[in-house]
Amino acid sequence: MFELNVEKLLIELETDQISISQYTKNHELSLNKDITLDEIRKGMFKSLEVMRDSTSKGMNEPINSVSGLTGSDSYKYTEYIKSGKSICGDVVSFAMAMALSCSEVNASMNRIVACPTAGSCGIVPAAILSTAKKYNKTDDEIIDALFTAGGIGLIIGAKASLSGAEGGCQAECGSAAAMGAAAIVELMGGTPKMAFHAAAIALKNILGLVCDPVAGLVEIPCIKRNASGTVNAITCADLALSGVESYIPFGEVVDAMYDIGKNMSVELRETALGGLAVTPTGIALKKKVLNKN
Ligand code: SF4
Repeated sequence: MFELNVEKLLIELETDQISISQYTKNHELSLNKDITLDEIRKGMFKSLEVMRDSTSKGMNEPINSVSGLTGSDSYKYTEYIKSGKSICGDVVSFAMAMALSCSEVNASMNRIVACPTAGSCGIVPAAILSTAKKYNKTDDEIIDALFTAGGIGLIIGAKASLSGAEGGCQAECGSAAAMGAAAIVELMGGTPKMAFHAAAIALKNILGLVCDPVAGLVEIPCIKRNASGTVNAITCADLALSGVESYIPFGEVVDAMYDIGKNMSVELRETALGGLAVTPTGIALKKKVLNKN
């Protein structure tokens, strides 16, 4: 059983001197006695390849959504980066372009890895791959970082929720940011304690975020929330790596997120009956999509 008490889990990791990724891999092995570590890693490598494709496609060519509502932002932003005008540094600017690309690939009904969900699919890959690119990390190191992200997602999913319909966007983009933040910490050589602090800070930053997709489509505001969620992950990892800690421990932040989600009205949990979905523009865009079909 995966230890869901984060305080106990941290003691176990520190006592055994293992990383979150190692613990997560051990857990996977314990679930299926017929599978080998090599097979598990190969499975994650396949996901990594999909992540690489989906995070780069929109940077190289304009991608439009099936609904016609959104698209081409990753391409537009990549051209802007190339012009040298971006005010963000390399890691953050490319991470945002990657996250936009992945979300646009999702909205165009092409292949992504739902990590933890399709709506938040850009955050974990963009956070990890942009950092890995900057610091020349190997595929093996990236795969381990993905297992770290998986471990964090497993805790949130078991203790709370990863679903916008259940917990609002905080449960999707917030969880993805927490997963990405912890993964970067491990990728950069930080400790499990630092990784949990990074995850806690990232999730705290987005508590209360509602799920209010225009026309019920995973496009507005989802695509840009992937860019901001990625920045959240990177900045929180950086804070934690510097020694900054979350005053509220990760496990308690997850509990708080779940409580907040349960207190959200149904209008703000993926029903498209509240928030941005019912603004005058949101309603007009919905009509446009309906008339198109
Ligand atoms: S707004 Fe809702 S559908 Fe969109 S990414 Fe957030 S949780 Fe998912």
